[in-house]
Amino acid sequence: MRPFDYRAPQDPATAVATVAGRPDAAFLGGGTNLVDHLRLGVAEPGLLVDVTGLVSTEIRDDGGGLWIGAGVTNADLAADERVRARYPVLARALLSGASAQLRNMATVGGNPLQRTRCVYFQDVTTPCNKRSPGTGCSAIGGATRQHAILGASEHCIATHPSDMAVALAALDARVQVLGPDGERTIPFTGLHRLPGDAPERDTELGHGELITAIVLPELPIAARSDYRKVRDRASFAFALVSVAAALEVTGGSITDARIAFGGVAHAPWRAYRAEEALRGATPSDDAFRAAAEAELADAHPQDGIDGGNAFKIPLLARTLTATLRDLAREEA
Ligand SMILES: Cc1cc2nc3c(=O)[nH]c(=O)nc-3n(C[C@H](O)[C@H](O)[C@H](O)COP(=O)(O)OP(=O)(O)OC[C@H]3O[C@@H](n4cnc5c(N)ncnc54)[C@H](O)[C@@H]3O)c2cc1C
Ligand code: SF4
Repeated sequence: MRPFDYRAPQDPATAVATVAGRPDAAFLGGGTNLVDHLRLGVAEPGLLVDVTGLVSTEIRDDGGGLWIGAGVTNADLAADERVRARYPVLARALLSGASAQLRNMATVGGNPLQRTRCVYFQDVTTPCNKRSPGTGCSAIGGATRQHAILGASEHCIATHPSDMAVALAALDARVQVLGPDGERTIPFTGLHRLPGDAPERDTELGHGELITAIVLPELPIAARSDYRKVRDRASFAFALVSVAAALEVTGGSITDARIAFGGVAHAPWRAYRAEEALRGATPSDDAFRAAAEAELADAHPQDGIDGGNAFKIPLLARTLTATLRDLAREEA
């Protein structure tokens, strides 16, 4: 591991100025992803700026929604009664991720910024455009079981690993950010980037921009919502595919839906086409399958030495259908 400096400033503005002033500096949240990358040599920051003591650990009611400080741990957020009652999809997504010990350390600011679990990204002996721009993509034609079927590019086919982020994408969450030029708020669905020709950039955040909070809007539909994750092991594994969904059924027809997919793209994938296909439909397996087909029409599976990932298309369609079927049953 390369030697690095460590600072723990007293306020967010100083932390932002410190990171913004050094191209090789990085914020340190719970450290559960960044410290792994230091050990592997995937990240080599010269300065770590610890933000755990200075970003808020508060969850408060906010005009019918919730304001969640970036320092709240994944464990505390999953356990919050308001989250469990008003946004169950978020609590279930959090509880499906990592282990209890990791969730006690992982923070709301750090979780959406964790980097891909692409095995080539984590192996510094292999070419990887995300880790070392311009070196190539070892995953294309390699092991692709975990890789993207939507929105990938010829430069990178990695998937985004966070479960919490999939729920936040479905919930129309917003991200509060403090940067060198002041505060700004961005929609959560605008935080992550597709790889295009710059896969080294995971998000739209600039260097030195600190996530200070996530804001959940008032969203009555979210009271009936669920997160379903399919993985190779029952726990302690990242998603092959996942579905975050909320459904509203009135008078026997679907009046509204919120859907996002995980494990299939470089970003949490908000399934707008599936939502549109559902509005006005009568809840049925046929309608749910048609919604999945509408969203997956542009899916582009990868061949690979491990058999590729075309299996994700029917797996995701079935996972979405089962999730919506159960939500519709709850509504009845
Ligand atoms: C064995 C294992 C299994 C796991 N399984 C899952 C899983 O199934 N699902 C899942 O979702 N996750 C899983 N994780 C990942 C884990 O959830 C993340 O590592 C964690 O959420 C990251 O949060 P952190 O606070 O520790 O971030 P850190 O590791 O501290 O930081 C991550 C990144 O965010 C940046 N950062 C941190 N805080 C801020 C901030 N406030 N503003 C701006 N930038 C910031 C850091 O600079 C760094 O780039 C697993 C991790 C491990 C080790
Ligand atoms: S998929 Fe992306 S992260 Fe994985 S090897 Fe290719 S460029 Fe690197």
